[in-house]
Amino acid sequence: MVSREVQAHNSVVRIGNVPVGGDKFAVIAGPCSVESEQQLMSVADVVKGHGAVALRGGAYKPRTSPYDFQGMGIEGLKLLKQASEATGMPTVSEVMEVSQVDSLCEYIDCLQIGARNMQNYGLLKAVGETGKPVLLKRGLSATIEELLLAAEYIYDAGNPNIILCERGIRTFETATRNTLDLNAVAYIKQRSHLPVVVDPSHGTGVRELVIPLSRAAAAVGADGIIVESHLNPAEALSDGHQALTGEMFAQLMQELKPFVEAA
Ligand code: PEP
Ligand code: MN
Repeated sequence: MVSREVQAHNSVVRIGNVPVGGDKFAVIAGPCSVESEQQLMSVADVVKGHGAVALRGGAYKPRTSPYDFQGMGIEGLKLLKQASEATGMPTVSEVMEVSQVDSLCEYIDCLQIGARNMQNYGLLKAVGETGKPVLLKRGLSATIEELLLAAEYIYDAGNPNIILCERGIRTFETATRNTLDLNAVAYIKQRSHLPVVVDPSHGTGVRELVIPLSRAAAAVGADGIIVESHLNPAEALSDGHQALTGEMFAQLMQELKPFVEAA
């Protein structure tokens, strides 16, 4: 069970050799989509150089329009593995279907369940059976209770290695892509022993808001962030408007120093 009533101490989930949920604030970074070897390798080097501990990148992309870039698929997974070997960073990538679970497990260290699949119970059971770390994103219109029950599906299938992710929810507000619900972070830390990370990139959809909301995530008690970065956001094949440039990523890490280095 994911409730604090059954386990009082915080769970620490390891992505490769990187602990999430311990004393250090974990920064997971990388592009929304894997686009090419050059794109992935160059951004991986930059985020690693500034202190990211794990690499994100989508190979299977849940796009709102079927006419938009759908991801590189298996070739993208292979590039993530290559980037992981080159930098030493473990990887996080989204699995959209049960049929993709085996390849994700072969190439990737942590399986992301995207917001749109938070209540895809067949998929939750399938990743639960792998025992691999799972980063479970909150659905666009899911309550906190529904998120915790979705986590319970993974846990009940035999996998306690779950990281919860607040990535913004749909509200009446249209100024930003989503409304980042930082209440949820504080609330879940009370209710559950699982680590919680924040995704300020999808939470705001606006590059300029990512650094301030990352600081807020650290202040409210999140265990880390997962953030999108691209060295040439104007050319990005997805979510360029919310990607941090290399310079902005350096600035982010500078501002998070007290949390990232906390002993
Ligand atoms: C992503 O991480 O690129 C993504 C599609 O996230 P979400 O499922 O939160 O929209
Ligand atoms: Mn994205």
